[in-house]
Amino acid sequence: MSTVPVEKFEFQAEIRQLLDIVIHSLYTDREIFLRELVSNAADALEKFRHLHLTEKEVFDDRLPLEINITTDDTAKTITIQDFGVGMTREELQKNLGTIAHSGSKAFVKTLAEGAKKDVNLIGQFGVGFYAAFMVAKRVKVYSRSYHLEGSGHCWTSEGAGSFEIEEAEGQRRGAKLVLELKDDCHDYANASRLREILRKYSSFVPFPINLNGEKVNTVQALWLRSKSEIKDEEYTEFYKYQASAYDEPRFRLHFSADAPLAINALVFVPKDNPERFGFGRIDPAVSLYCRKVLIDAAPKDLLPEWLRFLKGVIDSEDLPLNISRETLQDRQLIEKLNKIVTGRFLKFLEEEAKNRADGYKEFYQNFGIYLKEGAAIDHTHRAALAKLLRFESSTLAKGELTSFADYVSRMKDGQKEIYFLVGPNREALENGPYYEAFKLRGLEVLFLYEPVDEFVMGNLREFDGKKLLAGDSNELKLDDVPPPPAEGALNADQTKELCAWLKETLGERVGEAKGSDRLVDSPVMALNADFMSAHMRRMMKAMNQGSDLGALKVHLEVNPRHSLIVGLNNLRAAKPDFAKLVAEQLLDNALIAAGLLEDSRPMVARLNKILEAATK
Ligand code: ADP
Ligand code: MG
Repeated sequence: MSTVPVEKFEFQAEIRQLLDIVIHSLYTDREIFLRELVSNAADALEKFRHLHLTEKEVFDDRLPLEINITTDDTAKTITIQDFGVGMTREELQKNLGTIAHSGSKAFVKTLAEGAKKDVNLIGQFGVGFYAAFMVAKRVKVYSRSYHLEGSGHCWTSEGAGSFEIEEAEGQRRGAKLVLELKDDCHDYANASRLREILRKYSSFVPFPINLNGEKVNTVQALWLRSKSEIKDEEYTEFYKYQASAYDEPRFRLHFSADAPLAINALVFVPKDNPERFGFGRIDPAVSLYCRKVLIDAAPKDLLPEWLRFLKGVIDSEDLPLNISRETLQDRQLIEKLNKIVTGRFLKFLEEEAKNRADGYKEFYQNFGIYLKEGAAIDHTHRAALAKLLRFESSTLAKGELTSFADYVSRMKDGQKEIYFLVGPNREALENGPYYEAFKLRGLEVLFLYEPVDEFVMGNLREFDGKKLLAGDSNELKLDDVPPPPAEGALNADQTKELCAWLKETLGERVGEAKGSDRLVDSPVMALNADFMSAHMRRMMKAMNQGSDLGALKVHLEVNPRHSLIVGLNNLRAAKPDFAKLVAEQLLDNALIAAGLLEDSRPMVARLNKILEAATK
């Protein structure tokens, strides 16, 4: 047998450049070398499987389609073997020495110029193989092509400018890579370290991966299978594995699309919302894959912030395409993926809400807070999110929820605004002074109980062209319905005089005092005098930002039909000192109803004086 001698080759210029970066830069993601080599092995197996359908005459045709990885902790080597298509001598020279695609060349150029040497994308640019040199001081590739004729070869390089190829006897079909680890990379010869990396990046590779004889990838890439073939239990098992979760998923959305991007997505909503239990803000967890291989476990901006509760996988074949220098970080691509998946998920929720209202309500009780967050800050999806919000309402029983759309469908003729009140609970709102005017006129009011609600309403501003208006707002103008007549009510002049006296007596704490036609059962109510609403003020205080808010000032509306107001008006002349106490207490009462009383202690002494007078 004539043997071809060892032949030495120079790497193409771009590869030399790439190797220089790969070898000499410090990387945090060195571990991705394994992902790249396993991907190549899987690609080679896939090619072989495909080829073997038509070509029956192949070398070593009984070998299992699998990837075998072995570690040698003493020699500090890793061996990665596949029984795929393998490479001929010419292929070794061409595939592992030159770059064909111009896109890959551009990547290398950008990588070389960029301050941040982000090698994570290396595989997407068709140069993943060279990642081996991040951890290995010498790489050997033994290979035997599937062609019947020919022989085996060994490709060797230390990554520095050149490589050698020589014939190697006794090779099986496929490729066997031997990595001699660099001194500072010896921990990769440790099997448990490798298992961890394989689990992280290569769990869904569709061929068995055996590490020192033990299979490591046992879960299927469910997202690429057809929905109709997948059982619920399989979805649940996948969810638990992929999200490292212990619960059952509440919802799942599994879809694929071809345009504008080829995408397969499988996302889950967990049963419970961890942020609700005070575990702090959760991190996004939907992973980005390209053909079953993990690109990034938790990419930023893949989905909007408010979707951080989603788990699962987005896989796009298009990841390596459309590469230009500007899109090296794949911004545009990520934005497109974001748009597609978010749009589909919103549509999914809308359908759930329509078709399975009970399930949606339960979801909403757990995760509604995220939808509110989105509605408040995400302009792009605001309109869609507004449709998904639900609130209690004065026309529905406690615990029942309505949408804005349903509210609008019940609006009275001529009603132009959507009314809402924010307060601690339903009882407080129903019995507070602000609701009275609406009750009198039979107008529906949404009852909101969460601190963020006011913020959400303030940012939404309107729904379907109808303004969202707070029931304790100064702007509120309701149709005139004369309040029920009351005997002995103050007339307009008397009311005016009393209000002037109140303003004078209460001083700086009150902006304006006037007679009210909104009040029915309450003697007084407080309205915002500040730019800031009552709840905004409370929120600021809660966030410890209240120290600069200044003294609280409110407008007062008094009910001229209320016997307490009538009584106070008489008391002004008869017992001016006592009348002052009553006026102060009325103001505090109004502040309590508004949730604005900041310190109740001074009130106690005053109340005692009033009680003393009442018991004399
Ligand atoms: P890509 O995989 O994107 O083509 P790589 O740099 O990872 O880029 O690999 C370069 C080429 O080397 C591959 O396209 C393939 O032709 C060849 N190759 C790499 N690994 C193997 C393998 N295990 N078996 C057969 N061919 C391989
Ligand atoms: Mg590759």
